[in-house]
Amino acid sequence: MSLNNIEGKRAIVIGGSIAGKLSARVLSEFFEEVIVLEKDQKIDSNTLRKGVPQGSQGHVLLKGGEEILEELFPGIIDEMVKEGSTVSDFAQDLLWFHHGWKKKRFHSGLSIIQQSRPFLEGHIQKSLEKIPNIDFRYGCKVKKLLLNEKKEISGLTVEKHDGKQWDLPGDLVIDASGAASLTSNWLEQLGFNKPKKTEVNIDLFYASMIFGKLGVGANNWHSLLIYPNPPKQSSGGTISPIEGGRHLVTLLGYGVESLPSDHSAFLQYAKNLDQPDLYEAIKTAVPESSIQIYRFPALRRYHYHKLKQFPAGLLVMGDSFCRIDPVFAQGMSIAAMEAVILRKMLKTYKTKEKLTKDFHRKISKIIEVPWLIALTEDFRFRHTSGEKPIGLSVLQKYVKNVVLACSHNEKIYRQFMNVLHLKAHPVSLFKPSILYSVIPFLNKKNN
Ligand SMILES: Cc1cc2nc3c(=O)[nH]c(=O)nc-3n(C[C@H](O)[C@H](O)[C@H](O)COP(=O)(O)OP(=O)(O)OC[C@H]3O[C@@H](n4cnc5c(N)ncnc54)[C@H](O)[C@@H]3O)c2cc1C
Repeated sequence: MSLNNIEGKRAIVIGGSIAGKLSARVLSEFFEEVIVLEKDQKIDSNTLRKGVPQGSQGHVLLKGGEEILEELFPGIIDEMVKEGSTVSDFAQDLLWFHHGWKKKRFHSGLSIIQQSRPFLEGHIQKSLEKIPNIDFRYGCKVKKLLLNEKKEISGLTVEKHDGKQWDLPGDLVIDASGAASLTSNWLEQLGFNKPKKTEVNIDLFYASMIFGKLGVGANNWHSLLIYPNPPKQSSGGTISPIEGGRHLVTLLGYGVESLPSDHSAFLQYAKNLDQPDLYEAIKTAVPESSIQIYRFPALRRYHYHKLKQFPAGLLVMGDSFCRIDPVFAQGMSIAAMEAVILRKMLKTYKTKEKLTKDFHRKISKIIEVPWLIALTEDFRFRHTSGEKPIGLSVLQKYVKNVVLACSHNEKIYRQFMNVLHLKAHPVSLFKPSILYSVIPFLNKKNN
């Protein structure tokens, strides 16, 4: 008897990173066999790998994502904390300058765990290895999709690192291959239309280094975030605690031409930020790594849900579906929310065709909010180009006043945090009690 209503026995996941791992966990409840194909070779957990180059950069797990992680892997958060994650109260322990204003610090009760991205992924991997029907196959690159006579997905072609190729049959295929996703091209090769692609160019860079103990400037916070103050200032930086008593320091810039390429340029870039706190914390600290640079040219989303013809049984999720400005730290939590949607749908859906169509429609709705949050901020930079959201200037003005109010109004900051952590809809920032507080503040500022 099948474990699901769509009569599938084997599910295949392309890509074994966050979206791939979380979807594999969900699929293991509904399929006899789940195969995860990962092009990277198997490496020790908690280590950086080639297929996830962004892993060297600061990765914050939002509360919304953390709660889903705990739901899918009970006990994982405690285990990570035991092994090195730092627990921080988001308002109390984070020193945050936003548009030049310092956020109010108080005990909010909204705690997050902080660690490096490889540490987080390594712990998810360890939990997955306890699930008997999940089979990770490393060094396996997916080359193309296969269809049956009804034009439904029937499997895919895989290539081993030695160049040997073979066909692997499967009833459901998840594309979780991230920024490198080839689904759009594969569809075209199979005779389908390519989906519409929306891109917004932001020309963002990240440069990160690991430091051990920080200088005396860093004695009353766990982490620091200096968000740029556009359009005047396009640079910023963060410091986060990671496992092993170390700190990951990330500098970033939008439309910035010269990137810091060595330790002294890194310090100089930090010194030029609007706030002195980051530079003060690292100026005498000893680096424990070289500089790792990552460029993020554009936000990108595919509109698969709008295609009239699409192969039943192929689901695209995570960064393959949509990549959002990473400064807002939403990617992993969005992947987690998508995995939850998949779980709910597999409990009830009876046909692959409807599951496929509705999945893309539903995750596209999930993305609307983070996409809008990111674009509202990204279009404050003069060089940003692409399709602007409707009502952008009103939204920008209002959000800026909410942001500024977070420097003195605890209630507004709490609500802002809930939106940021994907626990509340941004519409909640327009409820009367907040409007009432933001508007007099705005009037006072303008007078
Ligand atoms: C600089 C930067 C900072 C970020 N910071 C944050 C943050 O603070 N918080 C947050 O939540 N998110 C952050 N993100 C986003 C986050 O990294 C992603 O959203 C998250 O990793 C989910 O991605 P994914 O699993 O869809 O894809 P990825 O993590 O990119 O993984 C794709 C996987 O697929 C494999 N693969 C690719 N092609 C194939 C193929 N053909 N066959 C087999 N395997 C294949 C790759 O090897 C890789 O393992 C950041 C991103 C960047 C770029």
